[in-house]
Amino acid sequence: YGLVGESGCGKSTLGRSVLRLFDITDGEIEFAGQDIAKMSDKQLKPLRRRMQAIFQDPYSSLNPGMTVAQLIAEPMKIHGYGKQQRETRTLELLEKVGLKAEHLNRFPHEFSGGQRQRISIARALSVNPEFVLCDEPLSALDVSVQAQVVNILQDLQQALGLTYLFIAHDLSMVRHISDRIGVMYLGTLVEEAPAETLYTEPAHPYTRALLASIPVADPHVQMLDQGGIKGELPSAMSDWPGCKFCNRCPRAMDKCQSQSPVMQEISPGHRVACWLFENS
Ligand code: SF4
Repeated sequence: YGLVGESGCGKSTLGRSVLRLFDITDGEIEFAGQDIAKMSDKQLKPLRRRMQAIFQDPYSSLNPGMTVAQLIAEPMKIHGYGKQQRETRTLELLEKVGLKAEHLNRFPHEFSGGQRQRISIARALSVNPEFVLCDEPLSALDVSVQAQVVNILQDLQQALGLTYLFIAHDLSMVRHISDRIGVMYLGTLVEEAPAETLYTEPAHPYTRALLASIPVADPHVQMLDQGGIKGELPSAMSDWPGCKFCNRCPRAMDKCQSQSPVMQEISPGHRVACWLFENS
């Protein structure tokens, strides 16, 4: 599941809440058929093995005082894997993410950003999770290595049957790795659809603007002004009764100022929250 939206819209807060790294104030978080929102740490521990995370910045998410071997083995130690099992699995994982046994005793500062993110992936997968939160795992990487990391994530997804919640701030990054995509604006999901539908039939004005802002890698193509969004993302603390996008929307109507649109299905699996699609 790809989750997209501008910086500050609440994507990471949502992702971390799903993992119960944050406690939510309202609602439910269902994992493997159970509501985990109110579970105690003790109740959560066996489930924690099944849900892991890869964070945005591999420069700060890896402890600089630990070697690669220690970093990958640490989650297994916490979850009770034996020494022999930890060593064997660490080597296996290192190979899976394209690193070698000679890297085991090195420290994070000896690696490039792309290599560090590979170590983060191996660490997250060490305890055999089913669900992995990928919180903007490409944003801190050079464009040249982003594709390599996406390929590794895709290969592992298929080989191990993983479910990802893949967070990104632009739609170009999630297209090839997502089955479904959700678009978030100011703490609210405004559109959700199968990946290809979202790119070929975007409905919400915000989604359309996000797509229009993706640069085309061809110097002969002239970008047209497609009525994209103007202005800054308002504060998430501001509270008004209508559509949260109305002060930036090129198609806003009077009704949008006073009434908040509800999510409705406009075609199978394609849902949108916008008054333009009322009763469609
Ligand atoms: Fe624009 Fe109105 Fe739709 Fe909000 S509800 S996205 S303001 S048209």
